[in-house]
Amino acid sequence: MLDSLLRDEPARIAALHRLEVLDTAVEEPFEKIVTLVRTVLAVPMATVTLVDRDRQWFKARRGLEVDQTPRSVSFCTHTIQQREPLIVEDADLDPRFAGTPLVKGPPYIKSYAGVPLRTPEGYNIGSLCAMDTRPRRFSPADVAILSNFANIVCDELELRMIAQVDHLTGALTRRGFNDQADREIARANRYGRRGTLVMLDLDHFKTVNDTHGHAVGDRVLQQVAEILRVTLRPSDVFGRLGGEEFAILLPETIGNEAAAVIERLRYVVANQSIVLEDGTAIHVTASFGAAPLSSEAVSFDTWLKQADTMLYAAKAAGRNCIRVWE
Ligand code: GH3
Ligand code: MG
Ligand code: MG
Repeated sequence: MLDSLLRDEPARIAALHRLEVLDTAVEEPFEKIVTLVRTVLAVPMATVTLVDRDRQWFKARRGLEVDQTPRSVSFCTHTIQQREPLIVEDADLDPRFAGTPLVKGPPYIKSYAGVPLRTPEGYNIGSLCAMDTRPRRFSPADVAILSNFANIVCDELELRMIAQVDHLTGALTRRGFNDQADREIARANRYGRRGTLVMLDLDHFKTVNDTHGHAVGDRVLQQVAEILRVTLRPSDVFGRLGGEEFAILLPETIGNEAAAVIERLRYVVANQSIVLEDGTAIHVTASFGAAPLSSEAVSFDTWLKQADTMLYAAKAAGRNCIRVWE
């Protein structure tokens, strides 16, 4: 019964996409696991690999330069077709892999152990892998360890789905924010309440990461979230939609009143310096898009799309500014 699931590729892809994990930023639990795999199994490379329709994407990786490759050259595409771990002791002797790009060229994979990552419904959405640049054996103990770590990866993927609070910033997760916004829309329908949805995205944040490193980038995200939180009222709903993108719901606030709140937010982000431990001061700005709850925006998705359109307009207008849906 289970094994028919291994052949249902559209359902497998849907299960992977439901996890909302593809192309997300680095997250601590997965980083720890690949570090441990590398140490405990004494391999130079370890990855949490998710196998998408046409590519494999690494949620976490050690010892690899790229964050994705075409699926056609991947070892993991074979791993997810079976329930048991896939072990390749010498890729040059295996007709499936001998001469393939990742074996013949960088990162020169010669041996591989991959344990399928299985969702609770039974779909293999990827694998936890240990790889070496030389042929090697993986002992039953090695495979058992890797399997235990794979179980932890699966648990973490589930946990991040049900989390309502983002661990980095303390803001609501996309899911948590979504739930609150749905409630607000229901109240608006029942009691005729109005509100404004605000989206903001940090300007040129990639430069912050590139200049100061990812850890400082994380710190800046935490600080910006803190600046926003103290500026907002307790009744406002504050979430991190992903990356360096946040959303705020201002209940019972529209028009000029909403514009004044958003302008204050823009101002405090732009005018507060974020001081690092070594004394370096960093300045960031954000662009804002907003949309009032209207009869068109009866679903959260439509409402969000309107705010996002305006955010895009604010970026196009030169950043560090606000655009509101008319
Ligand atoms: P723009 O003004 O157009 O928004 O430019 P940008 O550089 O902010 O936009 P882009 O989307 O190109 O880059 C966003 C960057 O944010 C890239 C990504 O690495 C980084 N990022 C996303 N999530 C996190 C995170 O959790 N921590 C850190 N440090 N960086 C993150
Ligand atoms: Mg940005
Ligand atoms: Mg962005």
